[in-house]
Amino acid sequence: MSETSMDKIVSLCKRRGFVFQSSEIYGGLGSVWDYGPLGVELKKNLKDRWWNAMVRERENIEGLDSAILMHPDIWKASGHVDGFTDPLVDCRTCKNRFRADDERIKGVPGEESGQCPACGNKGVLTGARSFNLMFKTFMGPVEESASEIYLRPETAQGIYVNYVNVMQSSRQKLPFGIAQIGKAFRNEITPGNFIFRTREFEQMEMQFFVNPADDKKWFDYWREQRMEFHTSLGINPDKLRFHPHGPGELAHYAKEAEDVEYEFPFGWQEMEGIHNRTDFDLSRHMEHSGKKLEYRDPVSNERFIPYIIETSLGADRLMLAVLADAYAEEEVEGEKRVVLKLHPSVAPIKAGIFPLVKKDGMPELARKVQEELQKAMPVSYDISGSIGKRYRRQDETGTPFCVTIDGESVSAGSVTVRDRDTLKQDRVEIDNLKSYLVDRLL
Ligand code: ATP
Repeated sequence: MSETSMDKIVSLCKRRGFVFQSSEIYGGLGSVWDYGPLGVELKKNLKDRWWNAMVRERENIEGLDSAILMHPDIWKASGHVDGFTDPLVDCRTCKNRFRADDERIKGVPGEESGQCPACGNKGVLTGARSFNLMFKTFMGPVEESASEIYLRPETAQGIYVNYVNVMQSSRQKLPFGIAQIGKAFRNEITPGNFIFRTREFEQMEMQFFVNPADDKKWFDYWREQRMEFHTSLGINPDKLRFHPHGPGELAHYAKEAEDVEYEFPFGWQEMEGIHNRTDFDLSRHMEHSGKKLEYRDPVSNERFIPYIIETSLGADRLMLAVLADAYAEEEVEGEKRVVLKLHPSVAPIKAGIFPLVKKDGMPELARKVQEELQKAMPVSYDISGSIGKRYRRQDETGTPFCVTIDGESVSAGSVTVRDRDTLKQDRVEIDNLKSYLVDRLL
């Protein structure tokens, strides 16, 4: 797939109501996006699949929803106030800003060879300055430094500071995990590639607390589990790979790290990070809060600070990967169709419901079928245009099944169900329709 495919995905997302530019009628807000009627369903389904796989289907992982605003000392302890920075350079002529490691800036910033890509002038870049990526705001009515707080740049810290609360209230013992889905904010210098890198995004993070002696075992376990999750969403395994971090790439808190990468239309990029964060976070929070965060093993009585294995996935990035992976253009019966081959479990609409014609009791019966089905799944009633046109509309939004109500439906109580991918049609009794569909949505 090429850059053009990216354009096609962005345009389909807008046309069909998956993703809109934020504040569009005011000229838009850079790299901020709103999720439309179908986008919100798709993203919710992806989050549900993650929540089920991580929390509901496991006894040793608990859920959490911590606040976006937290005590500012948390970000001192975590290292974000001092260290969550990118090196930034400015172009004195066109005022564009770049990350100093941006490949588009060739040569040495500030020197004659330094070339600015936007204005083409040479020797006009400033030297690199550190730029903190956290968004600041003020708590309370007084805008002074004492009331400064941050929008969280990751959800993980909300888990660490609640680790004792969760462990005690849920009576968990090591090894156990805490999972959370929530918004995070980073004032990225160079956001872009649609919803891939944005300043406001959603993370799905799980922190697994282990005995330090078992860290390698659990790191390897989670690495496998996470890859399995992505393939279970129907993502093409040839477009997924691991990228282990070399010593130069490792974050200050990590002993071992691997990314799950996806081959996006713009190349291989990180989708999820798996990190062995050691006891870095809990030690720092112990130090800064003065509270004991050690664990006492109930069998051996041994005391230690747990190690943390983290899995951190961006919901928006996952959605982009899923969309890019599902997008296809095909010839069907001599006509071109655009189709999103989404896994049925994440498709925003599960079935289109079409009365063949606008008479002979078909619309009324179709409405009855709709009422019955919508108790179990999102469906879409469509009466306008030829059946072929209606199929194309549903194909483009990834609806796995289309149900047509025809003369035989009215006389004999059966409908045709057309499968988006095989294009095969089955004749199904209306009484069995719900279970027929439910069986095929998992
Ligand atoms: P990158 O190198 O792409 O900036 P990172 O290594 O800083 O990412 P982490 O801090 O490990 O990312 O965040 C975990 C996950 O959160 C990422 O794998 C990604 O899916 C998501 N994520 C991070 N930053 C953004 C962003 N600006 N926009 C969308 N998703 C993001």
